[in-house]
Amino acid sequence: MTHGTRSHGPVADGRHAVVVGGGLAGITTALALADAGVRVTLLEGRPRLGGLAFSFQRGELTIDNGQHVYLRCCTAYRWFLDRIEGAELAPLQDRLDVPVLDVARPEGRRLGRLRRDALPVPLHLGRSLATYPHLSLADRAKVGRAALALKGLDLADPALDTQDFGSWLAAHGQSARAVEALWDLVGVATLNAVASDASLGLAAMVFKTGLLSDPGAADIGWARVPLGELHDRLARKALDSAGVRTEVRTRVTAVSHDVNGRWRVEVPGETLEADAVVLAVPQREAHELLPEGALDAPERLLQIGTAPILNVHVVYDRKVLARPFFTALGSPVQWVFDRTEASGLRAGQYLAVSQSAAQDEIDEPVAALRERYLPELERLLPPARGAEVKDFFVTRERTATFAPTPGVGRLRPGARTKASGLYLAGAWTATGWPATMESAVRSGVSAADAVLGALGRPRPRHLFEFEEAA
Ligand SMILES: Cc1cc2nc3c(=O)[nH]c(=O)nc-3n(C[C@H](O)[C@H](O)[C@H](O)COP(=O)(O)OP(=O)(O)OC[C@H]3O[C@@H](n4cnc5c(N)ncnc54)[C@H](O)[C@@H]3O)c2cc1C
Repeated sequence: MTHGTRSHGPVADGRHAVVVGGGLAGITTALALADAGVRVTLLEGRPRLGGLAFSFQRGELTIDNGQHVYLRCCTAYRWFLDRIEGAELAPLQDRLDVPVLDVARPEGRRLGRLRRDALPVPLHLGRSLATYPHLSLADRAKVGRAALALKGLDLADPALDTQDFGSWLAAHGQSARAVEALWDLVGVATLNAVASDASLGLAAMVFKTGLLSDPGAADIGWARVPLGELHDRLARKALDSAGVRTEVRTRVTAVSHDVNGRWRVEVPGETLEADAVVLAVPQREAHELLPEGALDAPERLLQIGTAPILNVHVVYDRKVLARPFFTALGSPVQWVFDRTEASGLRAGQYLAVSQSAAQDEIDEPVAALRERYLPELERLLPPARGAEVKDFFVTRERTATFAPTPGVGRLRPGARTKASGLYLAGAWTATGWPATMESAVRSGVSAADAVLGALGRPRPRHLFEFEEAA
């Protein structure tokens, strides 16, 4: 048990909330409730906090299970970084600038950039689009028109979720090349699905918020330290000083209502009593733990599909990439990040290749992936041709995100259940966002808000500041 000094909230009254799951959703819920003066216990089955965004040791190196990025428009995740005092360790670019390397042209490799300038939306992307070499002139004009049509879509219209983004793009004159070189380039990384597999509602949400809201909305941020430094060490420090009792290696096996109207949370060797319980676990685990009658159609949780992300990790004996990251066209390689400094590598360079929507590759043996990706990296990065590969390994996250398929919107429940005092959180709940760190934090805030309402406690203002920043 850990009790620290309370820095954000009033002293806790007798009310006790148990948060199950120490991913970003659960950490957020716990911090928010503790800041509002509720006594909180956070229970996590694994030996660390951070859920799907974590680090592990491989010899001397600290490796992330998968490259994570966020955008300036992710106001809730940015609030979270501030709250755990980690914002400086995961800074944003000053201005969106994505190097896009095309290696499929007969005339050889060609580098393009997706950049923004200081003009108002949508002109902030106009110059970059006008000079983007990976699209024909005709395609550039059509992309501009489709972007304007996208901007006009009403995100509150539930019909958007019944259509797929690929068909919408085709109906708006987008060629296969425009989909590959622009829409999927951004969409696959943010939605974890190609356009034809993605809900128009979620895709419109991503493109409207990221590219068509505020000029700086799509500026990219990423951790310059291992993810575990943020989501485990700093999060744990913040939870401790907020007075949260945090228990790792503590898997919840059952949640039930007792006769006095309180909740009983079972973990091996202990039963905790609580006034409120928040299940901040993945949808399948939530389904297992939900008591009978807590949701009208609990089977919907099991109908939410999942989608994999594969990361290929390569350590070279020398520097082969001069930029912090780039993305590729005409190659199976999607996004490549330089993780040398973050991992603690002292000599050579460590690149993480992030492969979203990796259904076809997620179960491939390491040898087959090595045979595919090393030559591809040599094609993209000429200095890699003479370099020695010191280490090659992969990390596989089979259930990295929920699948953002058309129709998924009606399957995602909100924070409240029909059982009073029992709430849901998680990137998969109804936040309007795809499965991202932003969605996880937003869900945690919503769940905390619902608990505070039920316990009759005021919402701490600072908790909702990100809504104003949006
Ligand atoms: C490889 C990869 C790359 C990604 N890239 C990005 C990216 O670039 N940008 C981005 O924004 N997002 C990205 N994501 C998605 C992002 O990581 C997730 O959306 C987010 O971390 C989910 O947080 P969560 O708290 O909702 O769920 P989880 O992280 O799944 O947390 C749930 C927690 O509950 C625990 N738990 C489950 N059952 C129990 C139980 N019975 N008792 C106790 N504890 C339990 C689990 O151990 C887990 O820690 C990526 C994900 C992966 C895997």
